[in-house]
Amino acid sequence: MHRKFEDTYKHKGLRNGLTDKLRLKGIKAEAVLMAINSVPRHFFIPSEFEIHAYEDKAFPIGSGQTISQPYTVAYQSQLLQLSIGDKVLEIGTGSGYQASILLACGAIVYSIERHAELSKQAAKILKLIGDKQLHLKVGDGTIGWVEQAPFDKIIVTAGAPSVPKILFNQLKENGYLVIPVGNDTKQKMVRITKLPGNELKSEIFEDFSFVPLIGKNGWK
Ligand code: SAM
Repeated sequence: MHRKFEDTYKHKGLRNGLTDKLRLKGIKAEAVLMAINSVPRHFFIPSEFEIHAYEDKAFPIGSGQTISQPYTVAYQSQLLQLSIGDKVLEIGTGSGYQASILLACGAIVYSIERHAELSKQAAKILKLIGDKQLHLKVGDGTIGWVEQAPFDKIIVTAGAPSVPKILFNQLKENGYLVIPVGNDTKQKMVRITKLPGNELKSEIFEDFSFVPLIGKNGWK
């Protein structure tokens, strides 16, 4: 059946509710909250789960993968401290929802996904939303995107066993890498800052549970 993509007043009302909930959970970055309030998350969710799109939950999106919970998306986006025009690399396009939030915050987004089917579906929805500052690629994001480096910010949306050095190398000076690091069930959110002289600062935040980052510099 042909799916209709409509963003109704009801959806907008549900998004207001979700935005309020994220504010109560501690998200403070106004640009991120405004992005959550404007991006139609239900477009990125398989039709059978569409009515639940504005609950603060992760959902399956095919290929054994998930669209992250809105709180997680907002949390990672907030840690990036985005400025308009930032060049951002995302590892794990998945549904394309996180990419859409970054775009709504004014970033220029480069996003890599290892599953071609997911990348194709994300491209379709992101085209429908109509943002031009987006570049998608199918491949192993654990090696980064060397032709497009350096990046102001890098966000990894799958759980890594450790911080891939190659991603740190592709950051600009004073850039941030936000990455969940841990085992296959639980990870700590980590923010790495690339200080002058290639020095590294590491900050550790809350626990999350992501699908695994699989690749040369991830899980095998
Ligand atoms: N950002 C996504 C969203 O908004 O829907 C979340 C996607 S899901 C939590 C993580 C994604 O990372 C999955 O789609 C998975 O296939 C992808 N992934 C895992 N390892 C990868 C790798 N080495 N390179 C690129 N994508 C990878």
